[in-house]
Amino acid sequence: MPTTVKAYVASSPTADLTPGTVERRDPGDFDVQISIRYTGICHSDIHAARGDWASSYPLVVGHEIVGVVEAIGPKVTRHSVGDRVGVGCFVDSCRECINCRAGEEQYCLQGATSTYNSFGRDGLPTAGGYSTSIVVDENYVLRIPDGIPLQDAAPLLCAGITMYAPLRNWKAGPGKRVAIIGMGGLGHMGVKIAAALGAEVTVLSQSLKKQEDAVRLGANSYYATSEPATFEYLKGQLDLIINTVSADIDVDAYLSLLALDGTMVLVGLPSKPLSQRAWSLVEFRRNLSGSRMGGIRQTQEMLDFCAAHGLGADVEVIHASQINEAFERVLASDVRYRFVIDAATF
Ligand code: NAP
Ligand code: ZN
Ligand code: ZN
Repeated sequence: MPTTVKAYVASSPTADLTPGTVERRDPGDFDVQISIRYTGICHSDIHAARGDWASSYPLVVGHEIVGVVEAIGPKVTRHSVGDRVGVGCFVDSCRECINCRAGEEQYCLQGATSTYNSFGRDGLPTAGGYSTSIVVDENYVLRIPDGIPLQDAAPLLCAGITMYAPLRNWKAGPGKRVAIIGMGGLGHMGVKIAAALGAEVTVLSQSLKKQEDAVRLGANSYYATSEPATFEYLKGQLDLIINTVSADIDVDAYLSLLALDGTMVLVGLPSKPLSQRAWSLVEFRRNLSGSRMGGIRQTQEMLDFCAAHGLGADVEVIHASQINEAFERVLASDVRYRFVIDAATF
């Protein structure tokens, strides 16, 4: 018998999220039933709820989920009742394709099963973490190390891994000049992680408003992109740029900041296509790439890395009734630096 649990639901791209319910399956042999404590508000939740991407309604978003295991299926070995656990952007994948076998389940050739806006093996729609409980196969559930407070850990499940993966894959570390464009939910974690990896970190933000915070989070330098002199001054000075901006940007202007063989990685997902001149790449053998979340193994590595370095997100915990207001504040870049919903208030 499925269980009906409380949730906040989007019923159309234009409607506010409202209190409602969602059904959760009984834990199967390998399932973990999680009592959700906190869920982060990722900008992707807003894209999905507001119909920027193809969404099916009613929709329960949320893929930065942390909680405590309240029940397990008879064959579960990886988690126990009472464990602090997390769930990120996907809850299953084919487990057989070359990418799944490589631990890069987010690039599953069959399409990983997204935590919401997707269909599970049972054929039922998946529903995300803006709710009080979720049931997930044990292989897609992460351990939250003791050192990280649960509310600060929630944003690591998407924002944290989405930044950690490209920083590791493009070898951010001592001697690498790394810039993060946009200091929001993803960007602020990017600054913390890149600094912990020992890279020289620059923040490129629209204004100077977040400068003090950036330095506190570990940035070595900070520039306002509204200031044309920034692009003159930094020309050819960076090895790796990670773009977290959710809106259109002038890609050529940012590519011009890369040194020989430098790489710009896109993680932000604007709804319109980007345009860019071939010369911007040809000029200094530059690279333009993209990166999507991270696999389960690397997500656990990121959580353990954050615990070892005392890192968590800077969060503002909100009541569920503030979700719609929080969406507007995220859209206005008015969040320091992630809203996290207290699941006790659903
Ligand atoms: P966020 O908290 O809203 O941060 C985005 C930041 O971009 C803002 O804080 C702002 O930083 C900057 N920005 C916003 N509008 C801008 C504009 N018009 N021009 C220039 N800069 C602007 O969002 P988020 O949760 O970090 O997510 C960022 C993007 O990544 C979203 O598109 C999201 O869907 C996507 N995402 C992708 C992945 C992936 O796997 N690739 C995973 C998660 C999220 P400043 O105030 O510092 O300028
Ligand atoms: Zn996300
Ligand atoms: Zn696969």
